[in-house]
Amino acid sequence: MRVVQKFGGTSVGNVDRIRKTADIVEASWKDGVQTAVVVSAMSGETNRLLGMANELSNRPQPRELDVLVSTGEQVSAALLSIELQNRDIPAYSYTGMQAGFRTDSQHSRARIRNVEAGKLLAHVEQGEVPILTGFQGVDEHGNITTLGRGGSDTSAVAIAIALKADGCDIYTDVDGVYSTDPRIAPSACKIDRISYEEMLEFASLGAKVLQSRSVELAMRYKMPIHLRSSFENIPGTIVTEEDETMERAEITGVAYNRDEAKITIRGIPDHPGIAARVFGPVAEAGINVDVIVQNISEEGHSDITFTVPRQDFQSALDIVRKSCEEMGGRKVSGDDTVAKVSIIGVGMRSHSGVAQKMFDTLAKEKINIEMITTSEIKITVVIDENQVDLAVRALHTAFDLDA
Ligand code: ASP
Ligand code: MG
Repeated sequence: MRVVQKFGGTSVGNVDRIRKTADIVEASWKDGVQTAVVVSAMSGETNRLLGMANELSNRPQPRELDVLVSTGEQVSAALLSIELQNRDIPAYSYTGMQAGFRTDSQHSRARIRNVEAGKLLAHVEQGEVPILTGFQGVDEHGNITTLGRGGSDTSAVAIAIALKADGCDIYTDVDGVYSTDPRIAPSACKIDRISYEEMLEFASLGAKVLQSRSVELAMRYKMPIHLRSSFENIPGTIVTEEDETMERAEITGVAYNRDEAKITIRGIPDHPGIAARVFGPVAEAGINVDVIVQNISEEGHSDITFTVPRQDFQSALDIVRKSCEEMGGRKVSGDDTVAKVSIIGVGMRSHSGVAQKMFDTLAKEKINIEMITTSEIKITVVIDENQVDLAVRALHTAFDLDA
């Protein structure tokens, strides 16, 4: 048996937490499990480091920022290793560069190209415990790179794949994925098993428990992830392949995201190339467009409405106003008080009437649906942000998810 254990910031947040984390590693090692460990920076550390850089400069260079923030993980790896050695466990800490994480050169959002895991493999095969820094690697020119916020999850999955581990255990401060946010619906229940696809939908809606890229990577290589708490020794949520044999509920969970804004452009000429003309400049500005609705054109003109992350609202609005003028469109309007609510579940594939049930439920609560979009395993509506809690609770109940 071989596992990779990854510990997030709160699990290494102080010396006492590092001891608790060492208990978990020690137990696995004593069970004879070949164990490799990936750590994040102590909680708050990455932000603290970035804060200092931003005090000194309003345009710190990404290369220097990567050298800076990668130190956070190095501290936790060394401290955990010191604690394990103190217990006579043969532990060795390594930075991403030493551990063979080769990436491209996109500082602060680098992608892993390959992992040369020979050294780490030798350690685990000899019953030793390599402790490596998550979140970082090295590009072909020898520059330190980082993988984007939350990137330690992706490091953990990548090393699990490279070591051909049986699984990747991700320890965090929550005990699993819930059917919805328990702060909104106290009746939310823990999901024992969730498919990669469902997990990706949850993650893309801002459920920050796992970096989306780590789930994509795990899905591609069929690496099971066990997301669990380092504070309590109880089973968490297993993220794995869809279980074909199980009878499924209509939906698995309800997710939401308040970080949304919508923009409408009216009366633009309806001919080929218009969507490209509207969205091209928005994409060039690095703004992610999400839900898009275009109505049927009347007298050769049509309207397009779409959503963007709230923090990009103003810049997207400016860009679209300019395009509208150039295209001879009628007007642009926007609203940054909207939110998305989604129901998610692979069960949708085999149950009919799921969408209808969602719309009926929202209608009963007098919630106005402003936009709708669907995928095979998700139905999303855009509504007023003040009605999110109500919508989430009503849907959770309507689909029988209440514990
Ligand atoms: N320390 C990094 C961050 O705060 C990476 C991680 O924790 O996964 O984003
Ligand atoms: Mg994280």
